[in-house]
Amino acid sequence: MDLALSPEEEAFRAEVREWVGGNLPDGWGTPAYKEPRSFEERVVFSKQWEKKLSEAGYAGLHWPKEYGGRGATYMQQIIFHEEMARARAPQLFINFVGMNLAGPTIMAHGSEEQKKRYLPPILSMDEIWCQGFSEPNAGSDLANCQTRADLDGDHFVVNGQKIWTSFAHVADWCLLLCRTDQSVPKHKGLSYLLVDMKLPGIDPRPLKQVTGDAEFNEVFFTDVIVPRSQLLGEMNMGWTYANTTLSHERGPAFLGHQIRFRNALADMFAHANRTIRDGVPVSEHPAFRGRLAAAYAELEIMRYIGLRNITSILRNGRPGTEGSVAKLYWSHMVRRMQELALAVGGPAAALDGPDADDRGQWQRGYLMSFAQTIAAGSSEIQKNIISERVLGMPRGEVWAPKEKR
Ligand SMILES: Cc1cc2nc3c(=O)[nH]c(=O)nc-3n(C[C@H](O)[C@H](O)[C@H](O)COP(=O)(O)OP(=O)(O)OC[C@H]3O[C@@H](n4cnc5c(N)ncnc54)[C@H](O)[C@@H]3O)c2cc1C
Repeated sequence: MDLALSPEEEAFRAEVREWVGGNLPDGWGTPAYKEPRSFEERVVFSKQWEKKLSEAGYAGLHWPKEYGGRGATYMQQIIFHEEMARARAPQLFINFVGMNLAGPTIMAHGSEEQKKRYLPPILSMDEIWCQGFSEPNAGSDLANCQTRADLDGDHFVVNGQKIWTSFAHVADWCLLLCRTDQSVPKHKGLSYLLVDMKLPGIDPRPLKQVTGDAEFNEVFFTDVIVPRSQLLGEMNMGWTYANTTLSHERGPAFLGHQIRFRNALADMFAHANRTIRDGVPVSEHPAFRGRLAAAYAELEIMRYIGLRNITSILRNGRPGTEGSVAKLYWSHMVRRMQELALAVGGPAAALDGPDADDRGQWQRGYLMSFAQTIAAGSSEIQKNIISERVLGMPRGEVWAPKEKR
């Protein structure tokens, strides 16, 4: 596949580069700049940054023009994410669900009224969304969702519990997957509601993560009255709509990752050059040289997996199963890389706080790296997808030698 850029794409790259160069927060990336660390600080910061992107026309890049987006090609989206990563610009954070999940799902299945009501405030960053899918007994097996929405005249009565709902405590709206028919097989009785998080009976309780922050929540719904007009599409078609949402969970933002990881690798090499062990920089230490070289090689592999992904998307118009190979690979690569960065720091690397190496980025990155192998489909689920859909292995069978079957 020829991935050379057209003159228009080169012009777009120059435009983005110039804008990012002139619009990063003052002092961003300099040693004196105090980056937001706590969840609360990051929410305030990210609302300002994402609003700025929106005002400059870089929000909803992938949204069609009729809905206020830019109608950018896939290649332009890749370029945008590459340039943001190259400039080490802040990543999309607080409006991720709205922009990437809620917007595309409402565009695909919402009524004209719903599109008019919900899409503009997502683009302008005036309303934040969360994704209420997972439950204590419905994560990988999402169709087992038990939160019920009982239709009673012109409204639903919602009761149940969601969990791991990122941003629920700061969100205005929720994409809620719930059961509206108990009598049919589990995939068939689900519906999809757009729920106002300020309604009485909704109780988000933040869950503290290993980093000390509370980004996600358990959310309790007790007799919540949701108007019938908040139903997305048709009753009992929620599973189809949920799959639309999930198919957007790993969009082209992922393609900027390998540049962000390249930046992280460069930081780690600098960290290894600065850190002295047994009288020599760690980067010259025989025990580390091989591991550092392997980290470099792994990143190259990730780049090629990314290029295969892009080729498949440009050929077929949508991501293929290569997406699972990429997710499985990079999420574990990140864990290895973060582990190595801590090993470079030695015993002191376990210490976090203002005096930590590189302002605690390695400690925090290490702790967060565990989430990557769970969120957006755990590693085991990715392996199931690869074995069944890429390698054509039989579904749901536990392998055993023939004589033992
Ligand atoms: C940082 C983070 C943010 C999140 N944000 C949200 C959010 O905003 N909204 C939301 O709805 N959810 C969110 N989630 C939840 C996420 O989607 C689920 O954690 C994920 O789908 C796994 O589900 P589970 O936690 O219930 O684990 P389970 O599904 O209970 O899995 C437990 C273990 O069993 C393994 N397993 C399960 N089924 C199989 C199988 N068939 N074959 C082999 N192994 C299997 C899994 O891989 C895992 O190791 C978030 C998760 C994280 C980590």
